[in-house]
Amino acid sequence: MTSILIAEDEARIAAFVEKGLRAGGYATTIASDGRTALDLAGSGAFDLLLLDVGLPELDGFSVLRRLRQARNSLPVIMLTARDDVTDTVAGLEGGADDYVTKPFRFEELLARVRLRLRPGEDRSGEVTVLASGELQLDLLTRTVAVAGRSVSLSSREFSLAEAFLRHPGQVLSREQLLSSVWGYDFDPGSNVVDVYVRYLRKKLGAERFETVRGMGYRLRTG
Ligand code: CA
Repeated sequence: MTSILIAEDEARIAAFVEKGLRAGGYATTIASDGRTALDLAGSGAFDLLLLDVGLPELDGFSVLRRLRQARNSLPVIMLTARDDVTDTVAGLEGGADDYVTKPFRFEELLARVRLRLRPGEDRSGEVTVLASGELQLDLLTRTVAVAGRSVSLSSREFSLAEAFLRHPGQVLSREQLLSSVWGYDFDPGSNVVDVYVRYLRKKLGAERFETVRGMGYRLRTG
C-alpha cells in the first residue's frame, strides 16, 4: 500500500487531508511538528511527503533541506499558506517536487499526489475530457463547451461543474459539494453551493442541474 506522510500542525487540515487520502486508498501518518516529520521521512517507510511550510520546532523548508542533505529523494509536495512566489520558488529550489497553496481543494491536492507518485509514467491515455450529453469539460485546458460552443466559467464554477461531471446521475449533497469544491475552507452553514448551482444553470442550461429536495443536486444525464 502506498504510504503518505502528512506533516501538518493544523489538526483540522491534517484530518481533512488524511480522510481524503484514506478514501483514495492510501495509508497515511500525520506528523504535527517538523522534527517528527524529519525523523519519519528518513525512515524509508513512506512513498511521499506532504510538507506544511509553517511547522513548529523545525519549519518545512528546514525539514526539506535536511532531507535532501541526507540524500533522501522522497517526493515532497509543499503545502504553503503563503501564495508568495518567493516562498514557492525557495521551496522548489530547496528540492521540493511541487507545491499546493492553501486553501486548496482536495481534488487539486490528489491530482498532485498522483502525479508525484508516478513520475515519468505515460499519462497520454488518461481521461482529460469529461462529457455528459452536449456538455464537455476539458480538464487540461480548463475549458467548457456546450454543443461545441465554448462557455466561460470562473475557476469555482469550473470545479463545481467538474464535481457534477465526475458523478453523472448521482445525487450530491451540499456538504459533499462544499468539501470537494471549497475544501476545508468553508462555512458549513453557507448557501454558496446554491448560489453557484444557479450560476451554472444560467451558463450551462437550467435543465441539467436537478434539485433533489432535502438531499442536494444531480446532474441529469440524457
Ligand atoms: Ca502550519
